[in-house]
Amino acid sequence: MKAPADLLLLPQWVVPVEPEGTLTDHAVLVQNGRILDVLPADAAQARYAAAQTVALPGRALIPGLVNLHGHAAMTLMRGFADDLPLMAWLNGHIWPAEKKHVSEAFVRDGTLLAAAEMLAGGVTCCNDMYFFPQAAGEAFLQAGMRATLGMIVLEHPSAYAMDADDYLAKGLALRDDLKEEPLLSFAFAPHAPYTIADATFDRINTLAEQLSLPIHTHIHETTDEIRDSVNQYGVRPLERLARLGLLGPNFIGVHAVHVSDAEIDLLAQHGCHVAHCPTSNLKLASGIAPVAKFAAAGINLGLGTDGAASNNRLDLFAEMRLAALLAKGASNDAAALPAAAALKMATLDAARALNLDDRIGSIAPGKRADLVAVDLQALSSQPVFDPVSHLVYVAGRADVTHVWVDGKLKLNDRRLVGLDTDDLTARAAYWRTKLTA
Ligand SMILES: [Zn+2]
Repeated sequence: MKAPADLLLLPQWVVPVEPEGTLTDHAVLVQNGRILDVLPADAAQARYAAAQTVALPGRALIPGLVNLHGHAAMTLMRGFADDLPLMAWLNGHIWPAEKKHVSEAFVRDGTLLAAAEMLAGGVTCCNDMYFFPQAAGEAFLQAGMRATLGMIVLEHPSAYAMDADDYLAKGLALRDDLKEEPLLSFAFAPHAPYTIADATFDRINTLAEQLSLPIHTHIHETTDEIRDSVNQYGVRPLERLARLGLLGPNFIGVHAVHVSDAEIDLLAQHGCHVAHCPTSNLKLASGIAPVAKFAAAGINLGLGTDGAASNNRLDLFAEMRLAALLAKGASNDAAALPAAAALKMATLDAARALNLDDRIGSIAPGKRADLVAVDLQALSSQPVFDPVSHLVYVAGRADVTHVWVDGKLKLNDRRLVGLDTDDLTARAAYWRTKLTA
């Protein structure tokens, strides 16, 4: 008698990420939202009776991509202020617009738009940091996308919260409300060392240890930020965080563009994770993070898009390709960040930074079924010697044809399932009018 399964997927290639490499003529079985088995296709059809079979000829099946750093609702500011350095961009444009317009409705609409964009491009999980995270959580749940919600903290007031204590209280209350949601997880998200006082970092550190949650913060993004820290605190931001005891295996440092060799050692010794956001770093002229050195030091690296206001795409295929190329060019070493490593950064290594690697990040029995089919049949993909190489250097998000999150179909033949694209377009137009009024 054959064993039951909900779903039998028959791609041309399975790229499990771990182990590294490609399986040909293999099947992936899904039952109750989790991966039940990965085995040769003929054996699968002999062993299992699946309620549904999806043939995926010419497709590579990969784990859902994990966006390790973003501000989803900022999709509504995509292209709003371009071609400016970070501080001029923040002070002159982004922060004033946020002060005036950001609300629960803004965050809900912007996050839903971001979730739709990410799902269509094969991103099934993201690590988010923005105001009104409860509205973001509602949007991710509506979209059926996995997310780590940042309990955002700043010292300065916003429409969302008055002061650091208020931000923290609201974040913790949100976590209490939603912590049983299987698609959601939580992280502390103190914005950056230049917006957070020592006492607040202390509190966050204690809470993060008590609750075993990640701390997700921007760090060493620009030289200005480092100079200001030396003037105000007498030390560079990473040294300040080290003295406060914040560095550890639950620390996700975003950007880390300007770091000395000693600071790389510091991050490595503490088992910190780095979210590398190459497009955002180039667009804001922040610089190029020393990714090859991070990798050599054994630092766990993930990839992030950052917000759509500084990218302007939420496209992890673009980030994989750029990360691999920049790592080589910046280190004069063509062997730096090979394709398989770039793909792992965008999947399993990012999941590890979020402490979700027991659930997602690779195609392995027992993990949740976050799966993405990528079409390698286009003329521009011919011939296919190595699907992993093509995933990073050739394919793009437009080649994503099917996406499942927790075993549920989210993209079917390049069409989003359960999301009204006309409505999303209309909402984006509404906010564009408001932001330019
Ligand atoms: Zn950011």
